[in-house]
Amino acid sequence: MSTVATHDTQGAAPRRTTLDRPHVLVIGSGFGGLFATQGLRKADVDVTLVSRTTHHLFQPLLYQVATGILSEGDIAPSTREILNRQQNATVLLGDVTEIDLTAKTVTSQVLDRKTTTTYDHLVVAAGAGQSYFGNDQFARFAPGMKSIDDALELRGRIFGAFEMAELAWDEGEEERLLTFVIVGAGPTGVEMAGQIAELSRQTLRRDFRRIDPTRAKVVLVDAAPRVLPGFPEELGEKAHRRLEKMGVDVQLGTMVTDVDRHGIEVKDPDGTKRRIEARAKVWAAGVQGSALGSLLAEQSGAQLDRAGRIQVLPDLSLPGHPEVHVVGDMAALDGLPGVAQVAIQGGQHVAREIRRSLAGEETGVPFRYKDKGSMATISRFSAVASVGKLRFGGFLAWVMWLAVHLLYLVGFKNRITTLLKWTITFIGRGRSERAVTQQQIIARRALEHHSPQDLVHLDDRSDSGPASVDVRDDQEATAGETGGTTGGTMAGLDATVEQQRPDHPEPEGPPSATEEAAHR
Ligand SMILES: Cc1cc2nc3c(=O)[nH]c(=O)nc-3n(C[C@H](O)[C@H](O)[C@H](O)COP(=O)(O)OP(=O)(O)OC[C@H]3O[C@@H](n4cnc5c(N)ncnc54)[C@H](O)[C@@H]3O)c2cc1C
Repeated sequence: MSTVATHDTQGAAPRRTTLDRPHVLVIGSGFGGLFATQGLRKADVDVTLVSRTTHHLFQPLLYQVATGILSEGDIAPSTREILNRQQNATVLLGDVTEIDLTAKTVTSQVLDRKTTTTYDHLVVAAGAGQSYFGNDQFARFAPGMKSIDDALELRGRIFGAFEMAELAWDEGEEERLLTFVIVGAGPTGVEMAGQIAELSRQTLRRDFRRIDPTRAKVVLVDAAPRVLPGFPEELGEKAHRRLEKMGVDVQLGTMVTDVDRHGIEVKDPDGTKRRIEARAKVWAAGVQGSALGSLLAEQSGAQLDRAGRIQVLPDLSLPGHPEVHVVGDMAALDGLPGVAQVAIQGGQHVAREIRRSLAGEETGVPFRYKDKGSMATISRFSAVASVGKLRFGGFLAWVMWLAVHLLYLVGFKNRITTLLKWTITFIGRGRSERAVTQQQIIARRALEHHSPQDLVHLDDRSDSGPASVDVRDDQEATAGETGGTTGGTMAGLDATVEQQRPDHPEPEGPPSATEEAAHR
């Protein structure tokens, strides 16, 4: 018999739910977690899916949110809504902080609520984060693209860079603002570079008066010697040629050694170091398995690979724990790639394993991955695809790419809206999702200084007396300084222009909110 017990962090008596049937706990609402849950639809079990987000995110289209083609809702339907007809499934919001393999409990937290859940079977599908190869300080100036927040932040930085360039004082500043550097020439980097190039050459062409957006420089940098290293060589070359035709400066064999607010420092193959001045940078290189992998490794003795992924047995179970399975990006098995199909098929496989176990049948069936091919889009009407021994490039690959992505996008509504927005972008060349809000920028700055938990307690104190006044005053002062709530967007822009005048040294305090969006 399993229980789900929620209590607050102050230690009030927990609210407890008792489950009579075997209980499967799934961590993560990505591809692995969702497909595992759906695979148990008809099983005589209770399934609890706990995830730190309320949505199922279709990561392959994040770059389209960042570049204004799609909205966040188009690629991130509510998990609760997806599973609302699956009667044996319960969705809980929570960031998993502890897993106890001996007690068979998982503890998750959201704001000031902690939930401890016992399980009979555990499926861990917490994915991977961005890796800066030991240089996490780069993240501040070159965000990665793993979440909706990342994509919206990048949207702010990309569109903000054009806005600030229109207000630049001199050509040097304008050039720095109109230079976009993408680090990593894998599929995400190629897609971002292609999209920023199209945005500047097509979408924004007529939108500015002082600057010419088509002059924007897009630089794609990678330490590897070729574009799309995971693809067959001929497709990598095809993508490379196409990017160069679009005006993307592809710099291979180039290692990033430093990143700051104003640009990046790189080392060429001959050891020469040089700088690329650029305010907007995107990090699309390297992944790091979820930190939950370390929790599992410590308790089970399983190995972690260099990318922090946990080594699982051939049936995707954790060594010594047949009741625990790990799927998707955080699992390491036979060099399987970190792609959606591995997570989907892994989730389906463990659902079958659990069903077999419930039926008293033999378990431990090895996971067999069926490679359905890989594809990357470069620009409007151009993509590369590799399916079995077949290689495609150009328009045909692009149509295949559209069809496959529509097929795997969860939810009918999302497919329709995505199709509509693709029509606007690919036929009309417009982009319907160019909005960037002050709230996103201010909230991000607040989160840099406080955890979500801290912010809840700030809010609590604000209801309860004089101490709260200081907190509010402090927050309002910060917002005022950053051109946020009090001055609005234009105040932020004015402040920034003032700061950039050569005869006005850069102030010590925080930069304006608009500048943050444009420059970090
Ligand atoms: C920008 C980008 C583009 C990509 N493009 C492609 C592509 O074109 N084709 C392709 O096949 N693959 C692509 N991928 C890879 C693909 O998206 C992943 O392989 C796939 O999402 C992995 O699924 P997953 O379930 O393992 O992890 P994810 O989809 O990352 O899901 C992890 C889930 O776990 C939750 N979570 C994480 N930590 C915790 C915690 N502590 N507590 C609770 N919940 C937690 C997260 O909120 C999330 O719901 C891309 C990835 C990215 C980032």
